[in-house]
Amino acid sequence: MPSSCDGRMGPAGAAAQNAGMDARTAPLLWIPRVASEAAPLDGTLRDRRQRPWRDLRISLTDRCNFRCSYCMPRSRFGPGHRFLPQAQLLNFEEITQVARQALALGVGTLRLTGGEPLLRRDLAGLVRQLAALQTLEGTAPDIALTTNGSLLAGQAAALRDAGLNRLTVSLDALDDAVFQRMNDVGFPVAEVLRGLEAAQRAGFERIKVNMVVRRGVNDGEALPLAGYFRKNYGAGMVLRFIEFMDAGCHNGWKLDEVLPSDVLRERIAGQWPLLPLAATRDGETAQRWRYADGNGEIGFISSVSHAFCGDCTRARLTADGRLFTCLFAPQGHDLRPLLRGLQGSESLLRARLAGIWAQRGDAYSEQRERLRRLQPERADMHVLGG
Ligand code: SAM
Ligand code: SF4
Ligand code: SF4
Repeated sequence: MPSSCDGRMGPAGAAAQNAGMDARTAPLLWIPRVASEAAPLDGTLRDRRQRPWRDLRISLTDRCNFRCSYCMPRSRFGPGHRFLPQAQLLNFEEITQVARQALALGVGTLRLTGGEPLLRRDLAGLVRQLAALQTLEGTAPDIALTTNGSLLAGQAAALRDAGLNRLTVSLDALDDAVFQRMNDVGFPVAEVLRGLEAAQRAGFERIKVNMVVRRGVNDGEALPLAGYFRKNYGAGMVLRFIEFMDAGCHNGWKLDEVLPSDVLRERIAGQWPLLPLAATRDGETAQRWRYADGNGEIGFISSVSHAFCGDCTRARLTADGRLFTCLFAPQGHDLRPLLRGLQGSESLLRARLAGIWAQRGDAYSEQRERLRRLQPERADMHVLGG
């Protein structure tokens, strides 16, 4: 029986929802609309807060070769943990079908994630399949990947050749001992740095490097990492600092361990003065800053201290085919039965996706304090893909 924290809601979560939430925060209760009502082809699909759907994050596996304590703590995800069996994973054709219909509804970016997406066999083959799809504007989709970088050195060139446009690599420390403590599998930082070099050689530009900051655990690594990327890559890589989030319900999240981005930014600016930059696109998660001396750019993803739900354009597809409209939603919409019974026609799928988006009202980060009490069950990060 899967735990309630894998995003399959248990009785407590349903009761909490029924007790306290309105329809905007109760995805369990909505009833899908019919096809005729919900499938615009001109990109005007909006949710209940008038937010368009622009990004689809696709988790390819719930497995990972790291055990980052803020995501898959070893105490909970040890040798006895049962991951999804292969038969329950969406295959590449099913993933492509969802992506194709999401693009038909206005999505432009497909981000591959996990668990660790580089563990999925023939990832380059999937990228090739997705790169052949078209957005509403008739262009190829923007395809991005988030990875822990451990297997990147061997795969970067093939992924680039297959059509991967953008890369985000997670890296929580520069010091090897701290990094190994963070990943909790003894993985050396040098190998991730080698992956980053390989990715740059393969032609990836402006690679993003994500550091999750836990106060008192690895916040001392923020300045060394900033110094490293300024010195070695300048504008070629963009380091982003992510506030530790209360995703899932196994990572021991405490507000005390969140270092607010403003505090961290002042620390960094004390060493290297910073100037603000405008967002590059609507729905951008990071606040961007550049070094005043011209040595590159950094970003802050501040889901806890500065909620950005107002322009959230993202939905997430789990490896077993559930669509989540919020990173903190207690459960997703199971598309797999529909996908496995489609028999060639995808119009029902498009109607279902449009209906889900049209009913969406999520804004967890804006209401964190209240919803944490009402909705104690949240899907885990390695299931949703971040
Ligand atoms: N395994 C890949 C990786 O680590 O990049 C992809 C999946 S991981 C779930 C996606 C992103 O979520 C990573 O950048 C990771 O650092 C971030 N993440 C995971 N748990 C988090 C948490 N509790 N708070 C903030 N970010 C988190
Ligand atoms: Fe794995 Fe990524 Fe989660 Fe770390 S953050 S445990 S690398 S899925
Ligand atoms: Fe989007 Fe939910 Fe995060 Fe708000 S809390 S930004 S709605 S994913």
